[in-house]
Amino acid sequence: MNKTFDYLVVGCGYAGSVIAERIASQLDKRVLIVDKRNHIAGNAYDYYNENGVLVHKYGPHIFHTNAKHVWDYLSQFTDWRPYFHRVLAMIDGQKVPIPFNFNSMEMCFSKKLAEKLDQKLLDKFGFNKKVTIFELLKSEDPDLKFLADYIYKNVFLNYNLKQWGLKPEELDKSVASRVPIYTSRDDRYFTDVYQGIPLQGYTNMFQNMLNHKNIHVLLNTDYRDIVDTIPFDKMIYTGPIDLFFDSAFGNLPYRSLRFEQHTFEQDYFQEVAQVNYPNNYEYTRITEFKHLSGQDVPRTTVAYEYPQSYEYGINDPYYPVPKKENTELFQKYANEAEKLKSVTFVGRLADYKYYNMDQICARALMVFEKEVANEKE
Ligand SMILES: Cc1cc2nc3c(=O)[nH]c(=O)nc-3n(C[C@H](O)[C@H](O)[C@H](O)COP(=O)(O)OP(=O)(O)OC[C@H]3O[C@@H](n4cnc5c(N)ncnc54)[C@H](O)[C@@H]3O)c2cc1C
Repeated sequence: MNKTFDYLVVGCGYAGSVIAERIASQLDKRVLIVDKRNHIAGNAYDYYNENGVLVHKYGPHIFHTNAKHVWDYLSQFTDWRPYFHRVLAMIDGQKVPIPFNFNSMEMCFSKKLAEKLDQKLLDKFGFNKKVTIFELLKSEDPDLKFLADYIYKNVFLNYNLKQWGLKPEELDKSVASRVPIYTSRDDRYFTDVYQGIPLQGYTNMFQNMLNHKNIHVLLNTDYRDIVDTIPFDKMIYTGPIDLFFDSAFGNLPYRSLRFEQHTFEQDYFQEVAQVNYPNNYEYTRITEFKHLSGQDVPRTTVAYEYPQSYEYGINDPYYPVPKKENTELFQKYANEAEKLKSVTFVGRLADYKYYNMDQICARALMVFEKEVANEKE
């Protein structure tokens, strides 16, 4: 039978789309890329809802990176809207800047106490540093210990319990360390050199990426339904690694989310794109999309985000749960994957790892260079 495609790529998210684009444009090979969902762009998918507001279906996505090669690569497919993400958290009845910084301190404590704590932080860590909650909790100075306990209780503990069903210390330390404490007045959530939102949205950027004569996109299709009928040479797999092996060693656990959208006939709903509710209500945060897109419409849509446990076939796997026993289970699948020479595994579900968008983009570019382009015919 004549071979129609050189590669089958499973998944139209960052991992699959970046590799498909590279194979098509750099190797001049033919790619069939499939997704079981009815859209491209994976979890970065955005669309205009019935009220004409551009929303992110799977939660707010803010692009930020220090990797110039990633920024330059994606900039071939989109222009950017300059955007610095700002987050407030409802603490003791006030909306306080997060990451916790000198401005937050001024809102939560008396002027005298805030100044004393600022000075102690500056003396211990220096100006404009990022300090993890775990580092701060180790403080022996009673004032810094007080501050660490305050931040731990009000910012981290209940948020983690809601988000993961676990305390911060029960998870890999990298999770809580993603939101450090800043020893400055920098209110930006991210401090990366390059930050922005694709000017026409993420889906548009992915459309441009996949718009190549060598790429054929097939949606609403589980790869299992076509893998035996459409001939190809090699596979790039970006789906869940445990499902590839029929969960032979058991299922890898995930945390899932439920989003509830509400539209209001008013210009804006809240001050910034994201307000966290660590200590109140069942939801963790409310996102207002117009802040991200800068869209000019006379109404606004927000999404309330409710964490929930993941159930196969019922909801989506969002976050791998970074715990030692899960990493060990993943390793069993990774060992099996290693043996398959005609399948390359890459992506947050295939690597069982939380990646930011720039990280998965960088990884896909690297896997393409090292493992795909280098392959002998
Ligand atoms: C709520 C939330 C918010 C986030 N916010 C940010 C942010 O602000 N900034 C940031 O940098 N990153 C953010 N991320 C991370 C970002 O979503 C990921 O980095 C990115 O989506 C990973 O891309 P991927 O291609 O690995 O996976 P995905 O985007 O999940 O793509 C995998 C694709 O494979 C498909 N697939 C799976 N199995 C099959 C199958 N059997 N057959 C066919 N198709 C299949 C899936 O349908 C999916 O479309 C966020 C993640 C979440 C969950």
